[in-house]
Formats: sequence, structure tokens, C-alpha cells
Amino acid sequence: MGVPLSQMWTVASYVLGKKLRGVKRYPVVLMLEPLFRCNLACAGCGKIQYPAETLRRHLTPEQCFQAVDECGAPLVSIPGGEPLLHPQIDEIVAGLVARKKYVYLCTNALLLKKHLHKFQPSKYLSFSVHVDGPREEHDLAVCREGTYDAAIEAIRAAIDLGFRVTTNTTLFDYADPDRMHQFFDDMMELGVEGMMLSPGYNYEKAPDQQHFLRRRRTVDLFSQILGVGGRGWRFNQSPLFLEFLQGRWDLECTPWGTPTYNLFGWQKPCYLLQEGYAQSFQELLDSTPWEKYGRRSGNSKCQDCMVHCGYEPSAVDATFGSLRGFAATARLTVQAFARNLMRRGTAPRRTPQFQTVGLRGAPPAAEPGEPHGLQNAAGPDLPLVELAPLRVLEPLER
Ligand code: SF4
Ligand code: SF4
Repeated sequence: MGVPLSQMWTVASYVLGKKLRGVKRYPVVLMLEPLFRCNLACAGCGKIQYPAETLRRHLTPEQCFQAVDECGAPLVSIPGGEPLLHPQIDEIVAGLVARKKYVYLCTNALLLKKHLHKFQPSKYLSFSVHVDGPREEHDLAVCREGTYDAAIEAIRAAIDLGFRVTTNTTLFDYADPDRMHQFFDDMMELGVEGMMLSPGYNYEKAPDQQHFLRRRRTVDLFSQILGVGGRGWRFNQSPLFLEFLQGRWDLECTPWGTPTYNLFGWQKPCYLLQEGYAQSFQELLDSTPWEKYGRRSGNSKCQDCMVHCGYEPSAVDATFGSLRGFAATARLTVQAFARNLMRRGTAPRRTPQFQTVGLRGAPPAAEPGEPHGLQNAAGPDLPLVELAPLRVLEPLER
């Protein structure tokens, strides 16, 4: 299983409590964005295109705690930007762990090794490392060579110190199912607790608009990737969400299940769209026209979206909302558990199908040895890491 029993129990009892009390809309995961700045500029990212003055700002620990207390969700995901650039991220995490929240600190891991000493291993804390597939695909997605190797090194260091580590993978249309299978094997061998998968959302602001997945292509791709039955792979996700990605279970978006809090307040209606802000969680619930969102609403911005922040809470709700959902989840969980007990053959490695072709997409090219262009945008005083110059990879023609 990709999720510890204590966490499953906490979420299950929380959701059942809401169901028994007849609460229609409730949060499961708070998406807490304490800052927007990052030390990468991925081509598919819709979060970092803010003016420099916004990129310099961050939430205080007190603002974070107030949002967490107000919302009450048992899980808190801390995306960004890159949360490890926040000068008080350790204080924020410690405060959330003290509140017995299950925290997923999402990171591209470039600074993880350096900052590990600031954190204590805990069942409440998991580093969710952004790895978008095998080395070539990941470095392509984040527009920088060497990031995959840096992430793997940091994952190893964190696991060695006893931290919970999961991976967080966004898939784009160039994903190759065979190579993804090998990637899952590699992550299991590395010792990560579980993997999270999601199709990329086609952010209007993202520099690369070509490689986002449309709905039919998402279902085809995930069917090929997940339909092989698994080889002892552990996913840190609801089984029904994985079925949904393969077109085998119907879900409707429940964006209130993963509310987003950031520098501007409570974001309407979801983590992906920015259609106004509320100043309190209750105001978010009361003032968002929820009927205008989700696929069935006809909203064009929702038609291709199958992203976990919209549909993972729907899967959790479906699990506890009907006997059929519960039985399917139980069956899929037992099947996955049985597969984990059997197996361990790995597929043969394949030669990478990518070549280095030069710069594309995000910020201007850096000369060899120069730091990343975002340093100028975010300001010289920010703690950005120096990395190898940008180089972008493109798939070889087949
Ligand atoms: S790591 Fe990439 S996707 Fe994540 S916040 Fe930074 S630029 Fe965006
Ligand atoms: S379908 Fe996607 S874009 Fe639309 S509200 Fe849900 S999560 Fe947001």
C-alpha cells in the first residue's frame, strides 16, 4: 500500500464523520501555497508567471496556521513555487505536524539534501518529490539537465534518514508507457513509499502549450500505463482515481475537496483556475458558483481536466459515499496488495529516445556557468541555487 494505515484511518474517519453529519462540501486536502517563487521554470508550469514583487513575497507561518485551522482538512499539501525557498518552511511544517496534519511537502528536491537537517522524520511528514518520469522526460519537463539525478540523490538521502518520501509525476503527451513502467520499477527499487500521478493541466500561462493531454488522450495513455496490472507498484492515490484516469470509473470534479490558500487568499474555484479570491474558507464555500465548474457544467476550462486536485477528493467521496464505491476500492486495494506480495521481475531497460537539441520555452538561454534567468525576475536577494545552464531535450522523431 502507498499510504500508511494511520493516515488511511484518519482520512476515512474524517470523511465518514462528514457523511454521517450530511455535510455536502468538505475539504480533504488543503493546498497551501506559501510562495510562488521557484528555482526552476518548467515549461508546463502555470504558477510562476507573477511579477517579481509577488515572487518575493511569502505567507507567514501564522497565516499558514490560520488557514489550516480554519479549513480543518486532515491532509495539507504544500506546493509552490518551491517551498524550500521559504525562509520559515521548517517552522511551518513543525506547526502542522504539531497539529497532527498529514503534510506533503512538494519539492523539486534541488535544495532538499541541503535542508534535510531542518526537519524531523515523522509519520505526519512526507516529502513529495517532483519527478516527471525517467531522466530524459523529467529533464525535458523541467527544462534543465541534471535535475533528475539531483532529485534521485536527494530522495536517497531523505530515505536514509528515515523520512517518508513519495514522488509526484505530471504526465504530458510525450510519455512513453514502457519507459514509465521502468520508471515505476526504479522508484520502487529506490524505496519511495508511493507514487502520485496526474495529467498536466493546460494552464493558459504555461510557456509550452503543445504537450498538454486532451481528455481522450489522457484515458488512452493512462490505460496503457496502468492497465498492465502493475509490478508491485505502490501509488499514493485513491484506487478509484486511478480507475478514473483509465476511463473505468466516472467521477465529477469536487474542487472544494482541495481548496487552495495562497498570498491572495482562498482561490476560486480550484488550484488550477484563478477566478477570484475569498477572505475566509467559509466565504469560499458560500460564494463560489460551484455549478459553473466541472465537466458536466460545460465550462470549456474543465473539459479536458482530469487533474488530481479536482478528482482525487471525488474518488475519496465515492469510496465512502456508496457501497459500490467502497466495494470497488476494497477490491482494487486487495488486488494491489496481492500483486505486491508476488512479483519482482523488472522489464528490460530501453535506450533513451531523446536527444539534446538546445533551448526552448521558458526563460532566456544562459551562457555556460551562468545561473538561471529566473534569478533576475525574482530578485538578486532570493536564495536561488546555481545550476547548470538551461538545456532542453526534445523527443527523437520516430
Ligand atoms: S518545480 Fe517547476 S512546476 Fe514546480 S513550481 Fe517550480 S517551475 Fe513550477
Ligand atoms: S474540472 Fe479541473 S479546472 Fe475545472 S474546477 Fe475542477 S479542478 Fe478546476
